[in-house]
Amino acid sequence: MKFLCVLCVLCGSSFFAAGLEREAFTITKYDLEVRLDPDQQRLGARGKVTLRNDSSQPQKIATLQISSSLNWRSIQVDGKPVPYVSQPYTSDIDHTGALSEAIITLPAEIKPKDSVELEIGYEGVIPLDTTRLTRVGVPPDIARHSSWDQIHPSFTAVRGAGYVAFYPITTESADFSEGNSLFEVVDRWKAREAASEFKLVLTLQDSSSRRTPTLLCGADAGGSSVGAGADAGKERRLQVECSWNPLATVTPAFAMAEYVDESKGPLKLFSLPGHEAGAAAYSNALDPATKFVTGWFGPPSAPIVIADFADPNSAPFESGTLLIASMAAQDSKLAGINLVHELVHSTLPSSRPWVYEGLAHFAEAIYREQQGGRQAALDFLGLHRSAFLDSEKEVSATLQKGVGEKGAAQRNMGQPLATTFDETYYRSKAAYVWWMLRDMVGDDALKQAIRQYRAADDNNKDSKYVEHLIEAAAKRDLDWFFDDWVYQDRGLPDLRVQSVHPWKTEKDVQFITVTLENLGIAGAEVPFTIMFEGGEITKRMEVRARSTATTRVELGGVPKKIVINDGSVPESDLTNNVFMIPPP
Ligand SMILES: [Zn+2]
Repeated sequence: MKFLCVLCVLCGSSFFAAGLEREAFTITKYDLEVRLDPDQQRLGARGKVTLRNDSSQPQKIATLQISSSLNWRSIQVDGKPVPYVSQPYTSDIDHTGALSEAIITLPAEIKPKDSVELEIGYEGVIPLDTTRLTRVGVPPDIARHSSWDQIHPSFTAVRGAGYVAFYPITTESADFSEGNSLFEVVDRWKAREAASEFKLVLTLQDSSSRRTPTLLCGADAGGSSVGAGADAGKERRLQVECSWNPLATVTPAFAMAEYVDESKGPLKLFSLPGHEAGAAAYSNALDPATKFVTGWFGPPSAPIVIADFADPNSAPFESGTLLIASMAAQDSKLAGINLVHELVHSTLPSSRPWVYEGLAHFAEAIYREQQGGRQAALDFLGLHRSAFLDSEKEVSATLQKGVGEKGAAQRNMGQPLATTFDETYYRSKAAYVWWMLRDMVGDDALKQAIRQYRAADDNNKDSKYVEHLIEAAAKRDLDWFFDDWVYQDRGLPDLRVQSVHPWKTEKDVQFITVTLENLGIAGAEVPFTIMFEGGEITKRMEVRARSTATTRVELGGVPKKIVINDGSVPESDLTNNVFMIPPP
């Protein structure tokens, strides 16, 4: 029997695999009801999904994929069951390393751009599963700290696509061991789903005698999404609703535990017993963080949710205005920074990832600056640099060979910030870009531009909306900067001193003429410091791509050394940034 089933699956896949376009359909709308049964680690879901044909061909076959620990129960169109074949599909997009794929024969062909609504039902278990990590050699003890998703009676936390397909997705297979394949598939999925509508109603209904837990998912800008329902006799029922419209960069997720509710103002704070000091760090950091965010970005408008982990070693997870992070340790600095990040999300909704996440990470850096000075902030920002440095060096090198941006794009290299769904770009590179903009235009102009930002106006009608806001506030042309850093990926600048000429006036005043050269294809305004006998002076100069720029600086003594770039401009090569000036 087992042998027969294996045969069915093999025949099934080879029969269908030939013409299967797994990414032909985009799921534009989710309306799901998910029932949780933690004692059994079970989940049962029913609801509707709307599929739009985004391919150029009419489609009669659709595929829907859920985690391999879940099983399809029913798929209907217009109230009538439609034929489908269910098969396992190997993919590292799910923590189990595989998906349960339904290959559905639709009642009629769906033309390009047309949609079809499917009523679906599926159920199964979501236990802890580290397969996709352990099979590429990650030790199980380490794997469980990052692959922590599970439904469990004592602590439940589950993240969506990219971690656990607890709702249907439509993707090509992703492979952890093949370079960036997994991230490419996940980024492509997120980009396709960014404009989709997602509504999730979570219900817990059981007859457990334990304390009533708190059930939570992220919140959209509209309202709260935390449920702590009452015991109704022996049966308890808990329900929360989460909706995201549009989904943007959010990965739908939920958590459930016997949390202590320490919510205050816009902060919904849920800690676990024994973590009182860690939770207090958040409560205490709320006022200064709110004051800082309000001063820079405006008053927070939507609640933020911060929830604790049972395992203190679990890697934190952030999505939209939900942060799950361990409160086992009392870390006031980290609590402040985490709060600033989430409060910026609350203040500034945007469906542009580089604006939404980039500004939140930039805010962390300026908060750090407020507490520890510019160098502390640059060190903090420096932690982001390694995330994109290697891939950007590659882009720089390829562009230098003269293949052009199209050539680089064809080689699948680099990502324009304006459109990317790659986290390393929209978080780490974007944080630097906002920091450089702030250095260029100053706090007041940038604050003014940010406060005028409206997500609804940041649409394709004016693709240079953000640039225009900042230009108007700063009264400065920034088109070259946005072109090199936001609209295109031109790699990183590479700055060096090309030549210096120290000289003295007739009245014995010391001057130096400095020429800086940018060997890269992205321009930058860079700070440089001249050390001279008895002091130093820092100036800034705009050096466009593959160009030089010259300036004259008055000094208090004989110049000795020039250091370009204090770390605020990401560069492909930092080994040529110190220039020793020969003695006169
Ligand atoms: Zn964020």
